[in-house]
Amino acid sequence: MFVSKNLNVNDKGHLTIGDVDTVSLAENYGTPLYVMDEDLIREHCRSFRKSIDKFYDGQGLVCYASKAFSCKEIYRVMQDEQMGIDVVSGGELYTALQTGFDSSKICFHGNNKTTEELQMALDYNVGRIVVDNIYELHQLDEMCGKQGKKANIMFRIKPGVDAHTHNFIRTGQIDSKFGFALETGEAFEAVKLALSCENLHLCGLHCHIGSQILDTQGFEAAAEVMMSFIEKIKLELGAEISDLNLGGGFGIQYTEKDDPLPYEKFMESVAKVINTFCKEHDIKRPFILIEPGRSIAGPAGITLYTIGGKKVIPDIRTYVSIDGGMCDNPRYILYQSEYDALVANKANQEKTETVTVAGKCCESGDLIGEGMLIQPCEVGDILAVCATGAYNYSMSSNYNRLQKPAVVFVKDGESRVVVKRETLEDLIRNDC
Ligand SMILES: *Cc1c(COP(=O)(O)O)cnc(C)c1O
Repeated sequence: MFVSKNLNVNDKGHLTIGDVDTVSLAENYGTPLYVMDEDLIREHCRSFRKSIDKFYDGQGLVCYASKAFSCKEIYRVMQDEQMGIDVVSGGELYTALQTGFDSSKICFHGNNKTTEELQMALDYNVGRIVVDNIYELHQLDEMCGKQGKKANIMFRIKPGVDAHTHNFIRTGQIDSKFGFALETGEAFEAVKLALSCENLHLCGLHCHIGSQILDTQGFEAAAEVMMSFIEKIKLELGAEISDLNLGGGFGIQYTEKDDPLPYEKFMESVAKVINTFCKEHDIKRPFILIEPGRSIAGPAGITLYTIGGKKVIPDIRTYVSIDGGMCDNPRYILYQSEYDALVANKANQEKTETVTVAGKCCESGDLIGEGMLIQPCEVGDILAVCATGAYNYSMSSNYNRLQKPAVVFVKDGESRVVVKRETLEDLIRNDC
């Protein structure tokens, strides 16, 4: 009935998340409101971690890709769940460090890290810096040399495997701003160079083949390609690559059209490929890293809005206006992403009304969705949009000077604010 298993209906006919009444949450904290189920976030972490235990003898680390949802509390939860994390900016790194996150379990990504960001990574001994390009390699080597440091690096590789939701394509040289190409020999030359850099330790290789991927073939193909490259490095350069990072991108259910795999399936199939390869080619099995973002945070979150207006345009469509929109969820205007929605205070009623949910920004494209089937609604009702835990709060903006909503975590039937709602004062804090 619901896209996420933490959603239910109580005896008042109200939608619940993690057994907490969403209508009460809207009353207590106001709308728009992001609500995340902490237990479900933790459960997702455990299922990925368990899959490494079960299929790979525990020889790996699950790094939560925190660009999906970043705030102090999520890093505390990740530390508590013995997860590693990915960060892609000084801002995410700073936020994690402010909670005392173990820096040895941080992977630092990005295709254009600034000098300041690299310096911060060195200052705090970030466990793995994922080097994207040759300029960064030179710069990092030089910085380490001057400061008497040795950094652990991985290379971001374009494996020539590009996955899109239901299939993957092999391309000669993929057109991407991220990483080193394999086909052209660029990646191999970079590895050679890195091995000669005194101040760097090349510990591993990384690839990330896409997002919202709903099957395993792309990951299997990527694992095969990356293992072959590891073998080539061993045979031709005599160097052993100890870590293999296969990225994230595991798909979730947004609407009933999506049919995601149980999370452990990814590790199961990838482990098979690596184990077989290592046996047949006499290669030492690498330590494995995976980087789920959406699949950890996405299904755990919903957004609650108050319906403030309704426009029935005969024979065309019905607009339902909410008190948020592209500022708190820009995914529709960016990618026409589809979502499941319902009227939280009428969750026990049948969905019979097809509407376009419109945000309150001054943009015609500011929609949450078109052709959304919801319960018959009226002004004052609470609209819940499901599976908004990832890439919503983290992509939110202050366009039209709207204040960013609060984020509330629910756990054990209780709720607590983990990010406060922005005030009008917050909006002008940096104005001179
Ligand atoms: C975005 C990203 C991820 C996470 O992707 P999801 O689709 O959210 O799982 C992991 N690794 C890298 C390098 C990324 O850029």
